[in-house]
Amino acid sequence: MQLIDVKGIGPKTIEALKKHEITNCLTLLKRIPKRYDNRVIKLFDAAYSSYQYIRVTALSKAKPLTIRPRLTLIRFKVENDLLENWSVVAYNQRFLLTMIQPNQSLVLYAKVHDKRRELVAQSVMFASSFKVGIHPLYGLEGVRDQAFQKFAVQCLDTVKLKETLPNSIIARYQLPNIHAFYTILHAPTSNVDLKRAIDRVKVEGLLRYQMKVALRRQAVDSYKKLPKNISTETVDSLSYALPFSLTTAQFKALKKIVSLMQKNRRMHAMLSGDTGSGKTVVAFLAMALSARDGYQSVLMAPTTILANQHAETIAKLANLQGLRVTTLTGATDVSTRRQVLKQIAHHEVDIIIGTHAVFGTHVHYANLGLVITDEQHRFGVRQRKALSEKGEHVDTLYLSATPIPRTFAMTLFGDVDPITIDEKPFGTTPSETKVVSKDDKLSVRNAMRETLEKHEQIYVVVPRIDDSEATAKAGVMTVYSAIKKRYQNASVDVLHGRMKEHEKHDVLTRFKQGNIDILVATSVIEVGIDAPNATLMMIYHAEHFGYAQLHQLRGRVGRKGQKSRTMIIYEGDTLTYERLKVMETVHDGFLLSEYDLKVRGFGDLIGVMQSGSLTFDHVDFEKDFALLKQAKDDAISMLNNDANDDTCNRFIHDVKRELDDLADHEL
Ligand code: ADP
Ligand code: MG
Repeated sequence: MQLIDVKGIGPKTIEALKKHEITNCLTLLKRIPKRYDNRVIKLFDAAYSSYQYIRVTALSKAKPLTIRPRLTLIRFKVENDLLENWSVVAYNQRFLLTMIQPNQSLVLYAKVHDKRRELVAQSVMFASSFKVGIHPLYGLEGVRDQAFQKFAVQCLDTVKLKETLPNSIIARYQLPNIHAFYTILHAPTSNVDLKRAIDRVKVEGLLRYQMKVALRRQAVDSYKKLPKNISTETVDSLSYALPFSLTTAQFKALKKIVSLMQKNRRMHAMLSGDTGSGKTVVAFLAMALSARDGYQSVLMAPTTILANQHAETIAKLANLQGLRVTTLTGATDVSTRRQVLKQIAHHEVDIIIGTHAVFGTHVHYANLGLVITDEQHRFGVRQRKALSEKGEHVDTLYLSATPIPRTFAMTLFGDVDPITIDEKPFGTTPSETKVVSKDDKLSVRNAMRETLEKHEQIYVVVPRIDDSEATAKAGVMTVYSAIKKRYQNASVDVLHGRMKEHEKHDVLTRFKQGNIDILVATSVIEVGIDAPNATLMMIYHAEHFGYAQLHQLRGRVGRKGQKSRTMIIYEGDTLTYERLKVMETVHDGFLLSEYDLKVRGFGDLIGVMQSGSLTFDHVDFEKDFALLKQAKDDAISMLNNDANDDTCNRFIHDVKRELDDLADHEL
C-alpha cells in the first residue's frame, strides 16, 4: 500500500511526512513514539503536583470574571465522591459558558490547589467523549499525534513485516513478535503490553550488540602469529632494573600481558586503571620485552603533545635498558621524517612513539610486533587490517583512561581481554576534594589566591564553550574574561576544542612549562596532559559531568605526588549535591565508574537507547545487566551451533552486514 492510499493522508500530509523521512508504510511504522500519555482518570490525588485527569460532575453553570482585557477567568462548581463543592477555574475558555450545565459528567485536565479547594483546568472535556488509555506521542511537526497513530494502524494491516529476531529468542523471553511489537508501540492497550514491547527493544539491542562483539572475537581469534619468546628471568630482570619497584597490581598486569604475547593468536587486550596507577610503565615493559625478542613496538597517542609527553617518560626508562626510541608525528619535519622512516625500516629503532602518523602508508616496519594505543579509541575493522599489513605478528594493547571494573569489562567488551591495575604506587596522594555551591564565591577565591601565592598552577574547567541562554550558564569564554579581570597579576589563558591544533599545542606547552598560572579550559584537557606544578582543579557546572569524568579531571593535579585540591562547583538542588558529594570520600576510579554505570545504565554506551522511546526512565541496571550477560551467552551459542533455524541465521547475517557497514568505526 502506498502512503497516499492510507485513509486521511492527502498530498499535504505526504509532504509533511517526507520532511521526517517517512516515504512508505514501513518507514512510517518504524517511527516509534517518543513518549506515551497515560490517561488515567482519577477522582482526586492531592499528592500529585502536576496535571491529572479528574472525573467530576458539574454543580452549576460557568460564570465569567474579566480580570483585565483579554484575560477572563471562568469559574464553576463541581463534585465527585471525594470532592465536595469545589471550584474549577479556567482561563480564557469562554466556550465553557455554554458548554457547562448542572449535572453534566466531565473530565478535567487540571492541577489541584488543595488549600483553596480549587482545580485549575487546562482543559475540560465531556466524560462521554473522553478516551482513557495510553496515547502515543510522536512529536512530529506538521502531523498530529492522533492522526499519525491512525495512519500507523492502517499500515499495520497491510505491511508484511519480516521478523528480525530468532524464534528461539522470542520464545524464551516471551516477547511479542514483530507484528505484535509494532501494534503495541503504536496502539498500546495496557502498560503490561508496553513493558513487553520495551523489553523487546532491550533484548534485541543487547543481542545485536553481543553478536557484534562475538563476531569480532571470532575474527580476533582467527588472527594467528608467532608466539613471543619471553622468559620469566627476562621479565624479572627488566622489572628490577626500573628506578622503582612495581606495585603488585602492575606486576600482575604485566604477567597477564606476557602470557597473552606468548600465545599463537594475537593479543587484543585492554589495560585499564586510574590515572597514575602506572599503566605507561607496564606498557613500556611490554615493549621492552618485545624488543628482547627482536620485535619493534609502537605507542600511539591521540595528540602530538601527548605523544611527546610519552616519549619523554619512555626515553628515560628505555635508555637504562639500552633500547632505541624515536618519535613520529604529523609535526615531524620532512628531513627528520625521512631519517626516522629509514631507521624504522632498517630496524635501527626498537620503540616508535607517535600519533596516527605511525600508520602512514610510507611507514614500513622491519619487524613490528606490538602496538599500544593510549586512548579510549579502539581500532575498527579497516584500521586493524591496515595494522596487520604493517606486520604479521602484531599484538595489540589498549590503554584505557577510564578504569572499567573487570566484571563489566568482560561482559561489555567481550572481544578484548580486560587487564586491570587496581592499586596506586605507594606515595601518591589523592586530591583533596570539596563540593561547593556556585554561590560560595569565598571558598573558590580563597583557594585560587592560596594557590597563586604558592606559585602553583590552576586549572579552571567549564563544560561548554558558549554561554547557554536556556540555562543561563556561563561558557568557557565568559569565565575566562571574568577571571582575567579579577586576577590581573596572574597570567591567564584559555583552551577549547574550537582552537586550531597548533594553538592548543602552544597553550598546553606554555602551561606545562609553568608560563601560565591559570588555564581556563573545556574538558579537552581531560585526555592526560601532565603539568607537574598544577595543584588546584576547579570544575564549574560540575553537575554536567559523570563521576568517571570528574575523577579523570582531578587526576590532572598533584602529578608529582604533592598535595593538591579539587573544587567541584555545582548549581542545583540537594540531590545534585548528594550525588556529587560522593567525590569527596571515594577516590577509587573503578568504584566511581561502577556508580556511573548504575546511574546512567550502559544502554547509551552501547547504543540500545538511541531508539528515541527508550530513555533513562527505562534503565534498571541490575535487570539490564543480567539481560546483557544472557545476551552474551545467547550470541555465542548461536554462533557455535550450526543447527540454527532460518530466523537465527538471518539474524547473524543481518548483524554481519551491519558490521561491514561499520567497517571503519569502532564499537
Ligand atoms: P598512568 O599511565 O597509569 O597514568 P604512569 O605510568 O604515567 O601512570 O605513572 C604515573 C607516575 O607514577 C609516573 O611518574 C611513573 O614514573 C610513576 N610510577 C609508575 N609506577 C610506579 C611505581 N611502581 N612506583 C613508583 N612510581 C611509579
Ligand atoms: Mg599515562
